[in-house]
Amino acid sequence: MESDTILKIALAGPLRGFFDYLPPEDNVTTLTPGCRFEIPFGRSSRVGILISTNNKSSVPAGKLKRALSQLDQAPLLQPSDLRLLKWAADYYEHPLGDVIFHALPVNLRKKPTASKASPPGLRLTQAGEAVDAESLSRAPKQRSVILALQHHPQGLAKSKLAEDHDLSPAVLRSLLDKGLVTPCELPPQTLPSEAAYQLNPQQQQAVDRVRENLDGFQAFLLNGVTGSGKTEVYLHLVADVLAQGRQALILVPEIGLTPQLLQRFQQRMGHEVAVLHSALADGEREKIWHAMRQMRQHILIGTRSAVFTPMPSLGLIIVDEEHDLSYKQQEGFRYNARDISLVRAQQTGCPVVLGSATPSLESLRNAQEGRYRQLDLPKRAADASMPSLALIDIRNGHLKGGLSPALLKHLEQTLQAGEQAMLFLNRRGYAPMLTCHACGWLTDCPRCDARMTHHRQQKLLWCHHCGHQQREPVACPSCGSPDLRPLGQGTERVEEILRQHFPKYPLARIDRDSTSRKGSLEKLLKQVHSGSIPLLIGTQMIAKGHHFPSVTLVAILDVDQGLFGADFRASERMAQLILQVAGRAGRAERPGRVLIQTRHPDHPLMQLLTQQGYAAFAKLAMQERQMAMLPPYAHQVLIRAEANRSDYPELFLKQLLEGCQKLQHAAELEFWGPVPAPMERRAGKTRAHLLIQSNQRLPLHRWLSEAIEIFATLPHARKVRWSVDVDPQEML
Ligand code: ADP
Ligand code: ZN
Ligand code: ZN
Repeated sequence: MESDTILKIALAGPLRGFFDYLPPEDNVTTLTPGCRFEIPFGRSSRVGILISTNNKSSVPAGKLKRALSQLDQAPLLQPSDLRLLKWAADYYEHPLGDVIFHALPVNLRKKPTASKASPPGLRLTQAGEAVDAESLSRAPKQRSVILALQHHPQGLAKSKLAEDHDLSPAVLRSLLDKGLVTPCELPPQTLPSEAAYQLNPQQQQAVDRVRENLDGFQAFLLNGVTGSGKTEVYLHLVADVLAQGRQALILVPEIGLTPQLLQRFQQRMGHEVAVLHSALADGEREKIWHAMRQMRQHILIGTRSAVFTPMPSLGLIIVDEEHDLSYKQQEGFRYNARDISLVRAQQTGCPVVLGSATPSLESLRNAQEGRYRQLDLPKRAADASMPSLALIDIRNGHLKGGLSPALLKHLEQTLQAGEQAMLFLNRRGYAPMLTCHACGWLTDCPRCDARMTHHRQQKLLWCHHCGHQQREPVACPSCGSPDLRPLGQGTERVEEILRQHFPKYPLARIDRDSTSRKGSLEKLLKQVHSGSIPLLIGTQMIAKGHHFPSVTLVAILDVDQGLFGADFRASERMAQLILQVAGRAGRAERPGRVLIQTRHPDHPLMQLLTQQGYAAFAKLAMQERQMAMLPPYAHQVLIRAEANRSDYPELFLKQLLEGCQKLQHAAELEFWGPVPAPMERRAGKTRAHLLIQSNQRLPLHRWLSEAIEIFATLPHARKVRWSVDVDPQEML
């Protein structure tokens, strides 16, 4: 039908395309894209976002419904924000509505609720200012709060009052009832700023190169060893951007890294720094999102999804640890925040700095080809020296719970010298499986092609792939023998061995199981930092961010999976992990040593990494990729399908292949599969893959944008769950 105005509304969810509505009855404001509307949908209502207006619709006149109301008077998203989201939707072939709603804080995805969170501060009312605090001497807590507020006419945070003056809900209630206090917003804090370091020549050069380019787009790869002072470089650049009155976005891979970085930025900038990550309460996220959007705040540190935060005066993006896998979302809208930050910088016309001690091969190739400018920080900034790496050959030795005699000896020497040692094993639990010594039965997961890990403390068998749990058996379910034995080791078992071997020395285990209680990680870390715990065993959790300056020995117990893993990126990830773990050690005046247990000490990649470092490793790894025509020399799209019925996924992918192999550009692509996924059965579903590859990006994306229209129409499309992963990072 035709009408004056028809709204094109995008909704969250898997549906591609927009939905047409007439403007709300009482519409008086302008209909600007980026505003939200409440619309009738089926039997209920939903929140959608206006993409554009039009005067035509394919919906017949009588069927076109009216939007119920306009939720925002001014657009939440500016054209520049929508442009970035549209790019992402096109590039990843994901429905635009879903992309947009992913980028909005949860609270804005639904109808606003009447109850508004009370502001975070508290200040005195006129009555409160006039009251004589001594008249409250019978209520000492109320008195204390009033006195504190009389000294702070602008108000104080309720959280601070709770901490320092015993403000409880009951005390607050009484004060509110007496009309002495009222909730209030707090003014932005200015903090005393700390003096910056005198940069060393390499740092200065890096800062200068970026500084020269603050007025336009340029990508930089800041390639600096751990402790080389990359963060110092970020701090200087952010200060520059701030001085121009512009905003800076700093992306970090993990929530765990934000508090430390936050503190450093806060202290240095003398400026409030906002933080966005998934562990924040919804209300808090929404507040920060608006503060950035309205330019009330200027510095944002955040994890992956923070890349979409509207920042109208953005002047710099930093992506710390750019190689980290956490930047890739592996579910739903499968995007890579690092890659999106590049497009965002380009669209904005500002520089982007990708920092890493172990850059991804993708970024190294971009630097080689001149698309990124590479800045090197080859030495540690303070006087600390780099740790040395050495291999321990465990082919013939007798291992004790995964620990070689040589390693035990080194540990003993370190402990006796009064120094700290840290062991790294990326496997929690007691053992990766149990076996029956009588009949060979294994703890297979009933829902996956995988084994259930034995968690001895919790007396559980636990599948780390699907979450399935069951009680630890007392006898073999197959033959009844009580002789069940662990195979391999996890951190729990290594802890046990270490306690037996070094009974005199306090030990801490840091993994998801030992730190599940709130505050327990901080407590453990504090003890380690104070030096009262000399022996530390941990998983991935200790590999990132935390500095352990008095650790002089780092042992990596098992790296061999990385050399022969099913994924072609396995060796790259292994090298990154080794150097990351190694980087935790010996930051102060004491040099660190890193010992790596392996059954393949002669492997060329391992040799290069330990003897010549990451650059030499990366060069060889890159040659291997080029010979095999793998990323970064080729571009990939992975189509996954899964279903309860075991034959459907492959059937669907075969239909897809047949239906889409004749499309334009298909001749320029390689199709691999369909094949069963590396873990064919997971969480009760059978899974299959189709990999599509090309050495040119353009034909691959052109083909995909046409092909995706066909996928949903294939006979088995509704019988399987399928997904498209552009630039897949894991072949799982
Ligand atoms: P990275 O981010 O590369 O790991 P950091 O910026 O955290 O490195 O710096 C490592 C250590 O060196 C920190 O303790 C930091 O305070 C110190 N540092 C950095 N730059 C300098 C400098 N120019 N002079 C002295 N110390 C520095
Ligand atoms: Zn048995
Ligand atoms: Zn499972």
